[in-house]
Amino acid sequence: MQTSAVTQTSHDQHGLYPQAITVEDFRRNLVKVRERIDIASRRAGRDPANVRLLPVSKTFDEAHIRLAYAAGCRQLGENKVQEAHRKWTAMADLADLQWSVIGHLQTNKAKLVAAFATEFQALDSLRVAEALDRRLQVEGRSLDVFVQVNTSGEASKYGLQPQEVLSFVKELPAFTALRVRGLMTLALFSSEAERVRQCFILLRNLRDQLREGAPAGIGLEELSMGMSGDFEIAIEEGATVVRVGQAIFGARSTPDSHYWPAGSTTEEPPS
Ligand SMILES: *Cc1c(COP(=O)(O)O)cnc(C)c1O
Repeated sequence: MQTSAVTQTSHDQHGLYPQAITVEDFRRNLVKVRERIDIASRRAGRDPANVRLLPVSKTFDEAHIRLAYAAGCRQLGENKVQEAHRKWTAMADLADLQWSVIGHLQTNKAKLVAAFATEFQALDSLRVAEALDRRLQVEGRSLDVFVQVNTSGEASKYGLQPQEVLSFVKELPAFTALRVRGLMTLALFSSEAERVRQCFILLRNLRDQLREGAPAGIGLEELSMGMSGDFEIAIEEGATVVRVGQAIFGARSTPDSHYWPAGSTTEEPPS
């Protein structure tokens, strides 16, 4: 498609998004992001209804999250499970607010995820799958999961190598409390749009291949890919979930290295 080949990243905005401090700010930002989702979907000949927006609230406090809720957010993504669990506890009164954990998990924290999350997007080991399943069985809960894949080839990024995913997925039916929904990735953080796009294409191709060989009961429809700086490209390549933080909440004061392994960003935002 001619137009999609020229879609650029907006990583130059990284760190510059204005802070959302009123419900109106959140409403406006959500409208703007949804517009961008609509435009990218139509450009790719897709129905925007098939792209779920997952607002990412990491680093933002309870007051800001309550504003986001008032503006209509009913599901939030958090990178770190302890931070997410703390917020869930503090906002238990918002009964219909759901939490999606989107960052790497250590087995010793599986218990926390099993207690409150409705979705976990960073599954990357059988040990974590087992620990989650065990705790979920105890809690009588189930959990939607995405398998995280390292599509950028960066050693510092979490996720399975693409060639490991098929054998991994074949083990998952054993964990009956996990509902496997699809794949998740973080693309290369780069202003070179074509290199970013290659990460998304890799994830889609992998999903398409896996769908043929996947065991019964393993759903592999979903592709969680794209964030504030690159979600339009991800949508053009088939994203069904985009994880958007800064473009809704504003720039974060905590450096990204706190959430992503050091060295995983190849470029610094303009200072
Ligand atoms: C923070 C985060 C995002 C959102 O990034 P933004 O640049 O704020 O849109 C997406 N995915 C993961 C895994 C994250 O940790």
